[in-house]
Amino acid sequence: MRTSKYLLSTLKENPAEAAVVSHRLMLRAGLIRQIASGIYTWLPTGLRVLHKVEAVIREEMNKTGAIELSMPVVQPADLWRESGRYEKYGPELCRLKDRKHNEFVLGPTHEEVITAIARREIKSARQLPMNLYQIQTKFRDEIRPRFGVMRGREFLMKDAYSFHLDHASLEETYQDMYDAYSAIFTRLGLDFRPVEADTGAIGGNHSHEFQVLADAGEDTIVFSDASDYAANIEMAETIETAERPAPGAACSRAATPGCHSVDEAAKALGLPSDQVLKSLIVRGERNEEGRYELIMCCLKGNQELNEIKAGKVPGLSNPLEFATDEEITDFTGAAPGSLGPVGFKGRILVDRAADRMGNFACGANENGFHLINVNWDRDVPKYEVCDLRNVEEGDLSPDGKGRLHLRKGIEVGQVFMLGKKYSEAMGAVVMDENGASIPMEMGCYGIGVTRVIAAAIEQHHDDRGIIWPDAMAPFDVSIIAIKPGRCPQVHETAEKLYAQLEAAGVEVLYDDRDERPGVMFADAELIGIPHIITIGEKSLAAGEIEYKDRRTGAKENVKVEDMAAFIQGKLKR
Ligand code: ATP
Ligand code: MG
Repeated sequence: MRTSKYLLSTLKENPAEAAVVSHRLMLRAGLIRQIASGIYTWLPTGLRVLHKVEAVIREEMNKTGAIELSMPVVQPADLWRESGRYEKYGPELCRLKDRKHNEFVLGPTHEEVITAIARREIKSARQLPMNLYQIQTKFRDEIRPRFGVMRGREFLMKDAYSFHLDHASLEETYQDMYDAYSAIFTRLGLDFRPVEADTGAIGGNHSHEFQVLADAGEDTIVFSDASDYAANIEMAETIETAERPAPGAACSRAATPGCHSVDEAAKALGLPSDQVLKSLIVRGERNEEGRYELIMCCLKGNQELNEIKAGKVPGLSNPLEFATDEEITDFTGAAPGSLGPVGFKGRILVDRAADRMGNFACGANENGFHLINVNWDRDVPKYEVCDLRNVEEGDLSPDGKGRLHLRKGIEVGQVFMLGKKYSEAMGAVVMDENGASIPMEMGCYGIGVTRVIAAAIEQHHDDRGIIWPDAMAPFDVSIIAIKPGRCPQVHETAEKLYAQLEAAGVEVLYDDRDERPGVMFADAELIGIPHIITIGEKSLAAGEIEYKDRRTGAKENVKVEDMAAFIQGKLKR
């Protein structure tokens, strides 16, 4: 590719809208442009990278025996009604109507369509197991699209769906996909971790996420320093070893005027915040009059509620919803900030760590007052103990081995065992050898193809630009010709080398713009082309061309006639 005939689209200035380095560099290197919130054009250089990532994914998927197909973005709403997700999915699901008022959705994922395909096309148990995949556009009306393509509304996903006669076969394919994902992310040069994960809106009962370690990540992952335990914080169970102290002085009332938070109350009462109870009111189920049951969740004042774990407690809203201030005041007579379990008339859930507290303070269910020297059982006779809090740095690992550490991660992929959730709801059955019809076991497996690129840049860059892992580079080599207009020998040598490399199948960006050398260099380094060749009058006089390795910065001079072979040698490795 000649730069003079290419749409390079690099930017010199840092775009103000980009909060993370990958977004900034993707804009500056001319990979993407936003056309609406969370919706992007992939410019030619970006598309080249995208194709590289897709190629690696396809190769590894095909190796496992998975078969590629392509499903539509626009999907009939009725299919989503069959699975029960039309109502359940919430506002992320973009709903639309055609001119005849037929209802459709833009696919945020494709379980419904693939199950509809499978129930028509897979007739016999002998066809199983079968794993079908596509690389295709998804739309999710994300509440907070951000960080460029890291959290877009329209994005590209590789999604695979497997079908099985029994659970053992599903487990086998799940493991194959787990291994294929590890191979894909290793080939793409990413530092990643598979972690145990929640199944969210997709459903199912067993899942792993593949997380790229990066500070810009929106997920928190935890792992043990003494075993291979690793999980998304959403899933990580807490283990408590502390003993509850014996009750002391009787419970009494203390004025805490103007205190609305745990920290304010702790300060007013002269207590550390871990001696003050945090009482949060969440919604349970709705009764016949349409009112929600209100349930209290109690935590140590310095710890955080884990909404995913809480949502799984029977009887709680899932996804978890908090009660409104109005609902709270109606029910307790006090505002949030003055709430506590003593005398609370609803269900009380106590986190495992809070259960070990004694002689603590909590809101008095009366504005401006707290209770001190409160004790479970003595002052709060009825409560349930559950695992409600986020694990913290240094907590015991749930497998009993070692301590937990927290890191930020970018979720680039997730694998799920779905079981029969969709096949039962939508009637995707096969006949077994006895002629009985059996709903198929299913698995599903996603990779955020566009997000992978942002994640790779988060891990591989310097202050001059992107440093692509070899498998993702948009071009292998950049040829920079210095003042070819002034020096015909430079022009001829560059043209010849360009032709030679192209003929050998090397992907070259040949900068023939006759620009200032600094400009051409800056562009090559910003785009992150791994191998940079500079052809200038001075070194040519000695029969040489300069080579620079983008990753290490190492430079060396190579004889003109050896350069093509030299580069090919580099690319083979
Ligand atoms: P997240 O928790 O980040 O919202 P998710 O768990 O809802 O993602 P999945 O349904 O597991 O996403 O989708 C499979 C993959 O698609 C994810 O692992 C992620 O890499 C990618 N992905 C999901 N949502 C987005 C998005 N809004 N923008 C870009 N990629 C996304
Ligand atoms: Mg996920």
